[in-house]
This record gives sequence, C-alpha cells and structure tokens, in this order.
Amino acid sequence: MLTSYHNHSQWSDGRGSLLNMLYAAQRMGLDELGISDHLVLDPHDDIPRWSMHPTALPDYLAALSEGRRDDAPCLRIGLELDWLPGQRDAIAAATDDPRLDYAIGSVHQVLGLHVDSALDHLGQLGPQALQAMYDRYWVLVAEMASSGLFDIAAHLDLPKKLHGRPSAAMQRDDRADGYAAAHRRMGTTRQAAMQPDDRADGYAAAHRRQQAPSVGDSAGVEPALDAIAAAGMTVELNTAGWDMPCRECYPSPRILAACHERGIPVTIGADAHSTQDLLRHFDRAVKLLQQIGYREIMRFEGRRAIPQPLADFAAALDRP
Ligand SMILES: [Zn+2]
Ligand SMILES: [Zn+2]
Repeated sequence: MLTSYHNHSQWSDGRGSLLNMLYAAQRMGLDELGISDHLVLDPHDDIPRWSMHPTALPDYLAALSEGRRDDAPCLRIGLELDWLPGQRDAIAAATDDPRLDYAIGSVHQVLGLHVDSALDHLGQLGPQALQAMYDRYWVLVAEMASSGLFDIAAHLDLPKKLHGRPSAAMQRDDRADGYAAAHRRMGTTRQAAMQPDDRADGYAAAHRRQQAPSVGDSAGVEPALDAIAAAGMTVELNTAGWDMPCRECYPSPRILAACHERGIPVTIGADAHSTQDLLRHFDRAVKLLQQIGYREIMRFEGRRAIPQPLADFAAALDRP
C-alpha cells in the first residue's frame, strides 16, 4: 500500500485544494493520501502566516472528513502541530478528536527563531550560539515526545536546513552533488575508508570537517531518540530535505540508523506543499531505509500506527 501523510493544502501553506491533492494522488497511484496542515497554538495568538488560525480547526476537520471521494485514494486526516512549551493542554484539546488519523509533532521554533526560515539570523550565529540552539532543539523534541500527544516525529534535525551555510566554494561542491564532492575531497576513486555518511550526506559531512557544530552531533540527540522510543512514536523520513540547501533527508542517515537500533518505527513523508511533490524522492527513501535494515513502514488510521512490509510499499511505488 502506497501512502503519503505529511502534506500541506490551502488550509495552511500548501498550494493545492483538497480536491487537487486527492486527484493528483490518484494519478500518482497512492492508496492513501494524508493531509497534515499546520496548526500553531501560540499562547499570545501570534500565529505564523504558514499556519491555519486555531479558530479554523473545526472547519478544517469537517472539510477533510466530508472530503472523501469514492473515486479517489483514501483520505487520512492529520495535523502538523508545533510543540511549544506551556501549550500541552491546548495541543491535547486540539488533537482530542475522533476524526483525526494521526498527529505530527514538529519543532520549528527554538529560542525565538524559526529554524527553517530565519536565514539572516541563523547565518549570524557563532559556533557557541549555534550549539546552544541545537541543544535546545533536541530538548524540545524530547519534551514533544514525552508529552505523549503525537504519533509521528516530523523532520528531526530540521535546523540543518539553511543555517551555517557552507562557504561559496563548498556550496558549489556540496550543494550540487554531495557524493561527488565528498569523493573529490577523498582525492581518490571509491575507497573503503569513505564513510557511508559521506556518500549520503555530503553537506553534513563537509560541515563537520569545517569544525562548525552540527545539529546531528548535539549531546541532545540520544535522549530525544530515547524519549521518542519510550513514547512509542514513529519517526518520519522526510524527503523534503533532499531539495533544500542541506541536500540531505531529515533526519540524517546516521540518526535514522540510531532510530532503527532503538526499534523506532518509520514512515516516509514528502512535506509536499504542491501536488507534484506528493511522492518526491520516495524511491531514494525506500532504498535508504532498506540499507539501514528497516523491513516495515507504518500506516495510520484513527491514531493507530499499523505496520506493513516495506517491500509491499516499494512494490506499490514501482507499480506502473
Ligand atoms: Zn514542518
Ligand atoms: Zn510540513
């Protein structure tokens, strides 16, 4: 069964209407399409423009539950909610609805910064401030998991998306082609010494070599993953990162491997904001999960995660 659950429609910052998305999903061979529009429950009602306003939530849930079509893939009803400290009760109230199939928990805001969009601010942070921001990011992820309110942990290691951009020279190398760049730096043809990471994540590896702190190296990673495992949450392999300046999926292959070691289940999400992205890089994601050792992928229904063989998902993806 082919599923895609992390997608945004016009109810938040996506470009497609619900019907556009459903019929695009049908053309692309999806069995289940999930819509997970942004909901930010800010205590001061400071709602970012990319989120629906909280007062729109009842209409959103009604539109989705009435949006099912016999001639289109099964529609799953989701939300992508920001974890904001102090907002546990508001999030619990918003997600306490029997129509909801899954709740995606996200950390986009750390120490007052939107880590995936505040490029100017992030570019000015020195190594210590960056390290502090990363450490705080993972504390928030751990809190989010421990709240027990979410089914899926979204785009772990998101702060790598834009910040700490490599020098212009590195950008030419790494952004264009992480593998070839890592390869050139090795100065040789294929070598056993090349780490699996280097092939998969040229940018992150180059970043580490530059001595800049990396979000994946924070001491907060392991406690956050432990909290996710303890909460029984699923981690998504979010394929959007491959199209961003970091040129790496979220989370990195290294963190995904650490998830696998802990028995944390996975799903694959596109974070699509337009219909053509509903399955972006899913083939690459399946291969990566298989390499790491995953054999199952989760689908969601009524707040339950249901495993299916990854091989079945891959076969559905290959279906003509
Ligand atoms: Zn997000
Ligand atoms: Zn999203």
